[in-house]
Amino acid sequence: MTPTLASSRFPFADFPTSKVAPSGKICRTMAAEKTNGLILRVTDFSETSRIVVLFPQDFGKISALAKGGTRLKGPFESALDLLAQCRIVFLRKSSGGLDLLTEAQLIQRFRPVERDLTSLYAGYYVAELLLGLTEDYDPHPLLYQEVVQTLEAFGDSEQVRRAILRFELMLLREIGQLPDFETCMGCGSELTTGRVFGFWVSQGGLICPGCQREEFPPVTVHAGTAAALRTYSAEGDQMWRRVDLSPQQYKEMRRVTTSAISHVLGRRPKMLAYL
Ligand SMILES: [Zn+2]
Repeated sequence: MTPTLASSRFPFADFPTSKVAPSGKICRTMAAEKTNGLILRVTDFSETSRIVVLFPQDFGKISALAKGGTRLKGPFESALDLLAQCRIVFLRKSSGGLDLLTEAQLIQRFRPVERDLTSLYAGYYVAELLLGLTEDYDPHPLLYQEVVQTLEAFGDSEQVRRAILRFELMLLREIGQLPDFETCMGCGSELTTGRVFGFWVSQGGLICPGCQREEFPPVTVHAGTAAALRTYSAEGDQMWRRVDLSPQQYKEMRRVTTSAISHVLGRRPKMLAYL
């Protein structure tokens, strides 16, 4: 089924960007920003309004008040749906406080596989990580594209687990926290020789057999997994789609990304328990 294109406007969608004060002086109000954005969280604020946390392509995460967001029925309601991709218009608050969402037009709803909870929870996991690991107004247009592709991949049960790994690694790269999968964190040697490496999360990368110590947590990474980690974390490159993972490689990558994400987040992501 093709997604329906729903459009709706708030009552004050034509909010002026400037107005004439009684003194005759023109007072500039906030400029309207237009972009595409993903909805990461929707909470009721009052009987008629909602607070929406969005991840807009060109601005980074924002929190915006959607006045009348609960009152309007039909298409607008469906546009403010978790993980929906929307064309949005918002007014940026100059000093703290919430931005004001004035328009939302649905581009693509999140469509997990029916009766496949892993696919649905994978979407929630993406929202949890974007909420927890990206900063307000820190734009990540490349990550936005990756997230859109990730959510599309969640529509295919076969792709879900690999797409999660790709997303986690691209998110870590974008926020400057991608572990080093090329050289040993202990001695700096290239990780081209040796068959089994360790993962040293607090130092941000892999370690060679010579630098491995008993006191380090036993996260082992075989050479094939290290190569897969490099492929899956390559920026802008879609090679990862052609690299299938053995059960062992998947397990090792899962441990590396869980460890790295939990380290940066300061806790284990809640949704991981369901994946
Ligand atoms: Zn070393």
